[in-house]
Amino acid sequence: MSEKLNEFKQCNACDMEKPIDEFSKRGKGYSAACKECVKQKGAATREKKKADKQKSDTRTAFNEHWKQTADQIDTFDLTQISDLLKEYQKQIKNMM
Ligand SMILES: [Zn+2]
Repeated sequence: MSEKLNEFKQCNACDMEKPIDEFSKRGKGYSAACKECVKQKGAATREKKKADKQKSDTRTAFNEHWKQTADQIDTFDLTQISDLLKEYQKQIKNMM
């Protein structure tokens, strides 16, 4: 057990040599990335998922809003339609 503590392994994510107990066990061996990197990667993945979901929520709300607006468009006059177009373009720009 004690010789295990002197083992070092290079992390394939941060390229640092770290004591083997900085790596999670995976099957018979150890994870290729150190615990720190695995944790950071997990956090980054979660952040990305959250951002993607927010984007898709925004898109859904946007589509819903404009679908409803399109249904009422015959009741609008030209000024209202021109205002709508400006708003539409602004929202599209925000989503990019
Ligand atoms: Zn690492």
